Amino acid sequence: MRVLITGGAGFIGSHLCELFLREGHSVICMDNLLTGRLENIDALFHNERFSFVKQDVTNFIHVAGPLDAVLHFASPASPVDYLHFPIPTLKVGALGTHKALGLAKDKKATFMLASTSEIYGDPDVNPQPERYWGNVNPIGPRGVYDEAKRFAEAMTMAYHRFHKMPVRIVRIFNTYGPRMRIQDGRAVPNFMTQAIKGRPITVYGDGSQTRSLCYVSDLASGLYKLLLSDIETPVNIGNPHEITVLELAETIKRLARSKSKIIRKPLPADDPKQRCPDIALAKKRLGWSPKVQLEEGLKKTLGYFKAEL
Ligand code: UDP
Repeated sequence: MRVLITGGAGFIGSHLCELFLREGHSVICMDNLLTGRLENIDALFHNERFSFVKQDVTNFIHVAGPLDAVLHFASPASPVDYLHFPIPTLKVGALGTHKALGLAKDKKATFMLASTSEIYGDPDVNPQPERYWGNVNPIGPRGVYDEAKRFAEAMTMAYHRFHKMPVRIVRIFNTYGPRMRIQDGRAVPNFMTQAIKGRPITVYGDGSQTRSLCYVSDLASGLYKLLLSDIETPVNIGNPHEITVLELAETIKRLARSKSKIIRKPLPADDPKQRCPDIALAKKRLGWSPKVQLEEGLKKTLGYFKAEL
């Protein structure tokens, strides 16, 4: 296959570029480097099946030659990032998805949208199955990401129904691993940096809110299987092992053998109280389930952050 990956220099995007190259495909990575980084794809430039284009996908995009798949992964993706870049986040989810869909249609390529568990908002159903419509505050600070992704799903399904285009929609739950940015503000990089440096570990709220963390290699294998499948409705990909944020902080502190104190900070607006994927669909139709246990993945990620710091 010859595939275009928008956001290919980002955390998840760069792991996807690597996976597709490993599987023998050609990859065009497109990224405006707003939150993506060239360091993430440095090791891929020697590969003649890899190329990089620096471009903002909210503008018209063109790629010469055939394409088998367009994977739209461009977007700021951590709550801190989309608070810093609210308008680019709305634009890449809305205008960027439109441009990427238009390119896929022109090339008769399969389109894959990176959607998110955020489309479920602060869910009042736990775990969240794909049929749950969510509980999103459209005008809250997180709404810029949640609503852009909800629009992106609607746009993708409209192209599928109206233009009969092959599409895949993956709802990605919390993912962690090497190449997360130290400064991206998410729980895993914050807690790891704080634990390694012996600084206070900042738990927001009382830490009773839950998340379910998937190691990035598990996520990438699920995305690959989904692309090769024929499922044209959204599919949750994530790890259903649900823990509280306080448990996550304590686990990272223990694994890092850190003496840091765990302190409390205010809970950000609209922070979801619970989040856990129902992955019955992915298990049944893709034969996929995550393999990497939390502590094993956290240890690998700690190794990365220690080296980075
Ligand atoms: N969080 C925290 N301390 C931090 C960063 C995040 O307690 O330094 C909390 C955050 O409020 C949320 C959870 O950890 O409840 C996961 O946050 P993250 O930013 O990783 O991703 P989210 O799941 O909210 O998109």
